[in-house]
Parts: sequence; C-alpha cells; structure tokens
Amino acid sequence: GHDPKGRTVAVVGLGKSGKAAARLALARGASVVGIDQNESLLEQNPSFVTLKDNGLETILGHFDWKLLNDADVVVVSPGIPLENYGLSYLLQSGKQVMSELDFAAEVLPKSVRILAVTGTNGKSTVVTFAGQMLSHFGINTFVGGNLGNPLSDMAFEHLRLPSQECELKVAVVEVSSYQMEIPCVYFCPIVAVVLNLTPDHLERHKTMLSYAESKCRLFSHMANTKLGVLSFGNQHLDEAVRKYCNKFNHAWIGAFPGVKIDTEAKIATFRVPDIGVASQLQLCGMRAIGNHNYYNAAVAALSVAGLDVGVHVEAISSTMEKLRPPPHRMQVVHKDMHGVTWVDDSKATNIVATHTGLMGLKGQKSVILLGGLAKVLNGQA
Ligand code: ADP
Repeated sequence: GHDPKGRTVAVVGLGKSGKAAARLALARGASVVGIDQNESLLEQNPSFVTLKDNGLETILGHFDWKLLNDADVVVVSPGIPLENYGLSYLLQSGKQVMSELDFAAEVLPKSVRILAVTGTNGKSTVVTFAGQMLSHFGINTFVGGNLGNPLSDMAFEHLRLPSQECELKVAVVEVSSYQMEIPCVYFCPIVAVVLNLTPDHLERHKTMLSYAESKCRLFSHMANTKLGVLSFGNQHLDEAVRKYCNKFNHAWIGAFPGVKIDTEAKIATFRVPDIGVASQLQLCGMRAIGNHNYYNAAVAALSVAGLDVGVHVEAISSTMEKLRPPPHRMQVVHKDMHGVTWVDDSKATNIVATHTGLMGLKGQKSVILLGGLAKVLNGQA
C-alpha cells in the first residue's frame, strides 16, 4: 500500500464521508487539505474544530486546481462527480485518485470479509437485514457505507484500537454507484450484490448502460470475490455483467442459480452456484411488509451464506421473524382505532420504489399520501 505518512492528501468534498476520510488521513500522519464549495461549512459544522486542531487545512469556496495537482493522493467524496475539478483528468494522468471507500479499505485488516450492496432501490434494507442476520449468529459486523457510518470511520477505529482487529469479521457496506466511478484497488468484496437497476440518478450517469456499468464496476477489481448476486433479466445489467463478472460465480435474484420467491406461499427457494441441492426459507413470519422485502431478506440470506463465515442459508431461517427494516422503509408506524394501518415509506424516492412499495399492499384498500420534488429523467421532469 501507499502509506500517506508525510504525504499530502487532498480530500474533495467535506460531507460525512469526506470528513471521515480527512480524519483518517490525519490519523495516518498525512498533511491533509480538505476542499468544499460551501463557504460556511465550518460555521455550520462546529465539529470541524477538532479536525482543525489536529492540523486539517480547509479551502472553502473557490480553490486553485494546482492544489489537487500537487497533492500526492486525492480522495473523492461519494457526492462529487468525476467530471468536476478535472478529477478524471488527474485520474487518467496517473495521479492516485481514490474513492473514500478505497481509501478506507486500504487500512482494513485483510481478514475482514466485505459484503458490498449496490442497486437502485433496497440497498439500506438489504444491508440492514444482512447485519441483523450476522449479529444473530454472534459475528462481529460493521454495517455502514452510504448508510450510517462511512467506512473511513471504521478504518479510523481500527487505527486507534488495533487490538479489535481480529474481532471484526465482516463489513457490510452499502455502496452508491457514485462511489464506484473510480476503480477500487483495496475495496475487494467477497460477496457483491447488484440488487436492481431502474432509472434514477440519470442526471449523473447520463445513460442506463453507463449507470449499469458504474454499478458493475463493483466487480471489476475483485480479486477475492466468491460470489456476485445480481438482478436477473435486466438487459443493461446483463451487458455490464458480461463485461465485468466473468471471473467468479454469480447467483441471480429471480432465477437459478440464485433465489426465487413464491410470494403466495411465502417461500424462498435457493439454488446456490456449485451446490446442486436446493434449500428453502419460510418467509411467513416476517414482520417487514411488502413482497419486495421477501426479496430483500432472501438476498441478504444468500449473501450472508456466500460470505463463508459458517452461516448456511438453512440456519438463517430462524432469523427471518426478527428482521426489521430500517426506518421509513415500509415501516408500520401506527394502527389506529378505526383499524387503519399507517405505513411510512418516505424513503421511496423514485417512481419504481414507490410502485414496489404499493405492490406490496396489493389487494388491500389503501389511501396514498404523496409529495416531494420530481427528479429529472432524460431531460423531462
Ligand atoms: P436504498 O438504500 O437503495 O435507497 P432502501 O432500502 O432505503 O433503498 O429502500 C427505499 C425504498 O425502496 C423503500 O421504501 C421501498 O419503497 C423501495 N424498495 C425497497 N426494496 C426494494 C426492492 N428490492 N426493489 C424495489 N424497490 C425496493
């Protein structure tokens, strides 16, 4: 690896992940300069004081591009497109340009097994379910990434308390496609999941194929990968899969090898690659509502089994009833005196997510309360 000690690390974007990366870089002994377009960042976030005290230099508003060019390492926050600030030029010219994930993964012990989850919808739910399953079996697990704590926070804790190294077994990481625009070197998931792929974020990725490719880039540098879990029957994803995923097993969501779900009988049937026998999982006791949550739970089960930490798909049955989706995802918030069940699905921030949530309530009389701002799809609002 490249030890940033004594070198200059420029962190572009000082949101939650960028800030965590800056803290990690300081702890690694680098001189760190953080860049953000928000001129009032420090006033708005008094918590930067500690980082400033530890030597963080900040440049807010406009900055001289030379700063990036002169840095030894450029760490890019997930929210920053590569076309900004000449980042893609720097990457092409051989500068060490890293995503926050990769920068964090560089210091993680190799023994930590990574499960990475990406896709348009359901990432947080699957990551949460997988974390709950692993904890149920007493496996020391970090759950975070795009959801919750950045991976750099976990890496920081490891630098601080290296004795915990051997205890942490698994990192379940939610990955947004934004984070995959820069190829990873150190972030090597054992199991990688692309849940689904529907139009979202096209303001950033422009075409569905480039969106699919950025999702599949998760697979492109995966030396250790044992299993890819992929949504079945998506033309763009299939194309990207052919390009990136030929080095390891894959299991399909909705086909075999992989997992299929009988939503009427509430049974998931698994046929895992290389293993001939099918196994089944009862979904009827699940508290998480909506058919999509059957898939989310089944994908989590398949992924956890694929991590090879001694938990088999069959054993996971006992955890199904205990799974709880994260807040605002088809969450039952209230059952009132008139027998009305109030469901909060406010994290359904695109049409397909909303539709999926509603399909889960099929056959029940429902009133829907909708609101929010439209995203731009192919130039049309
Ligand atoms: P993400 O982290 O990808 O934004 P979440 O797990 O937060 O996804 O779920 C957001 C919304 O997406 C949920 O409220 C639900 O309406 C919808 N959703 C959840 N799982 C799926 C799925 N497997 N397929 C399609 N839509 C889903």
